[in-house]
Amino acid sequence: MEESGIRGKLEERESNDMPSTPPIDQVSHLALDIGGSLIKVVYFSSDCNCSVDDDQDKRLPEKNLGIASANRNYCTLSGRLNFAKFETHKIDDCLEFISSKQLHRCGIQMNSDGWQHEALECDKNIIKATGGGAFKFANLFKEKLGVSLDKVDEMNSLVAGANFLLKAVSSEAFTYRDGQKEYEQIDHNDLYPYLLVNIGSGVGMIKVDGDKKFERVSGTSVGGGTFWGLGKLLTKCKSFDDLLELSHKGNNRVIDMLVGDIYGGMDYTKIGLSSTAIASSFGKAISENKELEDYRPEDVARSLLRMISNNIGQIAYLNALRFGLKRIFFGGFFIRGHAYTMDTISVAVNFWSKGEAKATFLRHEGFLGALGAFLSYKGHGLDGLMTHQQVDSLPKSVCWNGDELRSSVFGNLNENGSIECSVQLSN
Ligand code: ADP
Repeated sequence: MEESGIRGKLEERESNDMPSTPPIDQVSHLALDIGGSLIKVVYFSSDCNCSVDDDQDKRLPEKNLGIASANRNYCTLSGRLNFAKFETHKIDDCLEFISSKQLHRCGIQMNSDGWQHEALECDKNIIKATGGGAFKFANLFKEKLGVSLDKVDEMNSLVAGANFLLKAVSSEAFTYRDGQKEYEQIDHNDLYPYLLVNIGSGVGMIKVDGDKKFERVSGTSVGGGTFWGLGKLLTKCKSFDDLLELSHKGNNRVIDMLVGDIYGGMDYTKIGLSSTAIASSFGKAISENKELEDYRPEDVARSLLRMISNNIGQIAYLNALRFGLKRIFFGGFFIRGHAYTMDTISVAVNFWSKGEAKATFLRHEGFLGALGAFLSYKGHGLDGLMTHQQVDSLPKSVCWNGDELRSSVFGNLNENGSIECSVQLSN
């Protein structure tokens, strides 16, 4: 299980270290993305400072941001969006996490005196969930936690999550070249259209034209599941992170057939191929009298990572070209913030586009779908999500209510990947 972190060394906690009831923070909403490889969890936790407001004139931020509805009572809770993930085949760990944090009993109810944090009745408990596992594991969630999974469409969720992050969270999108991250300021008026490439177990490519306006234009089955599955067979690695670590130490030139291997060390300048360009991934293995055991697992892992990342970068660019899209955002947990993966994808996009297009990555790469499912609570008690940040020392907020963004400042992303924000709950 990994919780709260997005990049770098993620905080790992054994399930028996998890806090038992009552949780330190109150949780008001929880959403899941149950994929083929990983279960992604997004939940909002508050510091319990619930400001009740039914007087519109006093509701400054909401009023300014134009969310107010004359005849509804709202409660604005400040807190954070938290993130966690689990391997899908270890779904029991996820159930245990949700149960130990009482996430499935989260909710806010209003009594005659105003708002009060209260666990909802189990039979009223509904969790928004996306991904194939929302169908596959619905009965398990009902049986183990007594909750119903309210299924949210996977593509809708991915796009809603990506749009939210790109518009509301600062330092979310970045380019990566030669070990350097460069954060992009996204101009909200110049975001669409873009290509969203989600590299999960498989790869989906979606042309996004606006909020809720998108089309899945391509994809490939050669994705993160292929890297992890083939890598596991070839290297005997026990975990995805071990495989990534291994690839870090390897040298793909030992196995890949390079242009120079074919041209006697020379470039093929006429068509712009340098001697170090890969002519055939794993191609050297055919010409050498070697068995798998004769290769270092590090080199095999490196070659595999390079082959898959290159291929995805190339297909992504071809689709961007197909629709005249300049910007390509890459998400999904295959990327894992891994330098070599991002570098390879970036080089591929740059190479095939002759420098015309660039690959941009998202810090919350794997949580797009879960975030989108979270945002779909709109109309189910969660009517607004505001991310916070300090701009010129003045606290400002930006509100996302699923339709449009009401301000042009950005949300604050903590080091551990959680996002400071407020949710607006209605009765
Ligand atoms: P899905 O929704 O298909 O599960 P994800 O975006 O969660 O897609 O990405 C899954 C991919 O992420 C895996 O196929 C693998 O390449 C990679 N990955 C990253 N971390 C892990 C992990 N701890 N266990 C398994 N796969 C991981």
